Amino acid sequence: MSNETLRCIEGTRDYFGEDGNRYEKAFAAAANIFSRYGYEKISTPVFEKTELFARGIGEATDIVEKEMYTFKPSSESLTLRPEGTAGVVRAYLQHSMHKQAGLQKLWYGGPMFRRERPQKGRQRQFHQVGIEALGSSDPLLDAEVITMGLAFYASLGITGIKTRLNSIGCKECRPGYRETLKEAVKPLLPTLCKSCNSRYERNILRVLDCKHCADKTKDLPASYDNLCDCCNDHFEAVKQSMDASGTQYVIDASLVRGLDYYTQTVFEYTHSALGAQDAIGGGGRYDGLVEELGGPVTPAVGFAIGVERVMIAMEALSCCNCTAPLMVYGIGLGDAGHRAMAGLLARVRAAGMSADMDYEGRSMKAQMRAANRKNALLTLILGESELEKGIVVVKDMKEGGSQQEVPFDQFLETLRKLVPSGI
Ligand code: AMP
Repeated sequence: MSNETLRCIEGTRDYFGEDGNRYEKAFAAAANIFSRYGYEKISTPVFEKTELFARGIGEATDIVEKEMYTFKPSSESLTLRPEGTAGVVRAYLQHSMHKQAGLQKLWYGGPMFRRERPQKGRQRQFHQVGIEALGSSDPLLDAEVITMGLAFYASLGITGIKTRLNSIGCKECRPGYRETLKEAVKPLLPTLCKSCNSRYERNILRVLDCKHCADKTKDLPASYDNLCDCCNDHFEAVKQSMDASGTQYVIDASLVRGLDYYTQTVFEYTHSALGAQDAIGGGGRYDGLVEELGGPVTPAVGFAIGVERVMIAMEALSCCNCTAPLMVYGIGLGDAGHRAMAGLLARVRAAGMSADMDYEGRSMKAQMRAANRKNALLTLILGESELEKGIVVVKDMKEGGSQQEVPFDQFLETLRKLVPSGI
């Protein structure tokens, strides 16, 4: 056996310390904000039948063509989920949520897997929090969803998010637009990159979002100028609703999103702190996906937010990543003091306060240093003489804080008075 230290796989990482706090905060903010808008949490498996993603995301997408982790433990081909929407829609149909009255608002969070070239903000195992609102074609819902994403970033203290917005039409008007675009792109093909040339036949809309060729493609016909009346009305209503709520956005004809299932509204959030991979989240309407996966025609809209990119922005903006402070640190001196302190702390925790102590037999001074390092609000000190008198010393760790001797049967009450409410 080699004694080389084992490392995690390239493109994956560990989350701990300050980064771990940011990671937890992002998930907590998702639960908080999304539930405020009426979304319920759904958790689906991290692996599904390959067919779900091939049909749901689209065969001609980068993800399905080359980025999926697919394995075949038996005759059935399985894939680690590269995104969350397909699994949520599968669950929505499997559990007949479409037969329940009204709109279903669901949110999810967890790891996603894509075999991409790792770089800053781009991993092979990354995390997303996202929402899906299934069962309504109301443009006000598109606007609410976009605003909710912004509320999520704001709740974490992330400022400077830009929202790009576009409409890519529906199955009525998109085929015509594709042809218009093909005509316009054809004479440019010799000057466009290899991947644009290969996308020309397979997925012409993606030519619009190629960063290498942006200069050459910026004057191509815009999808929003080629919408049918219904898509045009929808787009206007989304914009009006966002204007009415004061939500800032820019219309961007080059925004088409990488996945096949989008219809009408598409949007992306970007942040300048992220460098080349500046998309911090994105989504859109996907009125055809439920039907594509075997269900009835069901209009839907959703988004996914990249947790690692949220963490990068939080770090760049020095957003608070602090955890709640430790309420009580127990300093037990000598064997008897140590044991008795363990008993007192059990009562402190049972009373709903956080508590910790030393388990390494360190000196009083070293234990006091540990209490400071952990930002404890209070320390309890218990040595032989305190034990004999049946008291414990309660020390307020704020500068100039008081120190008092309290009988065992009253110490919890004293702690409650000293711990500020709201922690
Ligand atoms: P997508 O499902 O591709 O629309 O991605 C939604 C969001 O997930 C993006 O805006 C990114 O913030 C994040 N994301 C996508 N791919 C990756 C990746 N490989 N590594 C880290 N974050 C990612």
